[in-house]
Amino acid sequence: MDHIAAIKSFVDKNRELILKTERYVWEHPETGYREWTTNAYMKQTFQDLGYTLIEAGNIPGFYADIDTGRPGPMVCILGELDSLLCSTHPEANCETGAVHACGHNAQCATLVGVAAALKEPGALDGMCGKIRLMAVPAEELLEIGYREELRKKGIIRYLGGKVEFISRGFFKDVDISMMIHTSVMEEGKRFGISKGSNGCIVKNIDYTGTAAHAGGAPHKGVNALYAATAGIQAVNALRETFQDKDHIRFHPIITEGGQAVNAIPHLVKIESYVRGASIDAIKGANERVNRALAASAAAFGANVHLGDRPGYFPLNNDENLRQIAREMMEQIVPAEQVNFNDNWGTGCTDMGDVSAIMPAIHPYAAGAEGTGHGNNYYVRDPELACVNPAKALCLMAYKLLEGDGAAAKKVIAEAKPVFKSQQEFLDFIDQLTLDVDAVTYCEDGTVSIQYKNKD
Ligand SMILES: [Zn+2]
Ligand SMILES: [Zn+2]
Repeated sequence: MDHIAAIKSFVDKNRELILKTERYVWEHPETGYREWTTNAYMKQTFQDLGYTLIEAGNIPGFYADIDTGRPGPMVCILGELDSLLCSTHPEANCETGAVHACGHNAQCATLVGVAAALKEPGALDGMCGKIRLMAVPAEELLEIGYREELRKKGIIRYLGGKVEFISRGFFKDVDISMMIHTSVMEEGKRFGISKGSNGCIVKNIDYTGTAAHAGGAPHKGVNALYAATAGIQAVNALRETFQDKDHIRFHPIITEGGQAVNAIPHLVKIESYVRGASIDAIKGANERVNRALAASAAAFGANVHLGDRPGYFPLNNDENLRQIAREMMEQIVPAEQVNFNDNWGTGCTDMGDVSAIMPAIHPYAAGAEGTGHGNNYYVRDPELACVNPAKALCLMAYKLLEGDGAAAKKVIAEAKPVFKSQQEFLDFIDQLTLDVDAVTYCEDGTVSIQYKNKD
């Protein structure tokens, strides 16, 4: 048996553990930075397999290294721990509303499958370098208010788990990163490899006015809700100025819209992102969005606190890794079942941040049904969603690190990540942070607004 067939058989041998993990994590959905039950299960499973873990500690997540014993590059394989919130999903947790409506439970199972297969005798034969297996928290960018609290307490520096792990130095020795995400695919397709996807800035937008009796003395109040809805409408009117090529998205939700129906709302909270295909496009659109939000506050005599945070960098799948992924996926399924394309996704992932500092890839695997992030999303076929991706990731690692790691070295040499160092990346995204009370009312009757950082 050649080594490719051997690796596939090592994954198959651990199918039961993979399927068990998929079910366990599905049944214990937890949102970002709250994945303690999932983390405990994953930790135990890794330790039972004989791994030594480096844990994040004050947040969920860990990594474990596999050393082939021969010098060479380090390849990191990631799996995401967190769920979404979708309380109308029939299988959502009835207390929290959490559910794996993005299928990250399948990624946990895939990561366990990789971990188990690579512990089989002979699995690392013919390979050099190291493989890092990483369970990462908080990919879905939600509960922004909660994460802001964690940030203020000094528990995290960044809202996204991979960005947080980058800042903690967990990627310092890593040369190449890869993962596979579950997806709902057209009939007959088993894997998908696209070009990349949008990045984003995360926004906390707090409109402030003045409370007053809503019936008796509304003229004494300043209605923060009307200022907020005017702000949303102002941004909606900007949409035709966004260019199609930039794939800009703005999709606000109001998380606090007033306290008492008989009082003029004095505080209205909005969360949103500005998404786009390049960081320049995101920054440009975000400034215009902020200007519209601020000017709408000024129109009512209100104010607005603009709280921008670095969200996710656009994902650019490395071209050499795309070819390797395709080649290895074709060892698992017939070539026509691999949907290799140049499409650009308009969702965001913090794998984009990883792709900004090193060659990285984030393909998709079939096996889910329903609507992503919707209340009818299920991982239906764990063979396609978990077992196949575990095989693909093991084979990709083998291909990269085979012999003296020539394939990995080629990927590293030809990669063009946006930033030369992880510190340069962190310094850049820190500049995206904005905290400003945007409107200043002057005694001479003028009003000024600030909608971006002063240079
Ligand atoms: Zn998602
Ligand atoms: Zn996801």
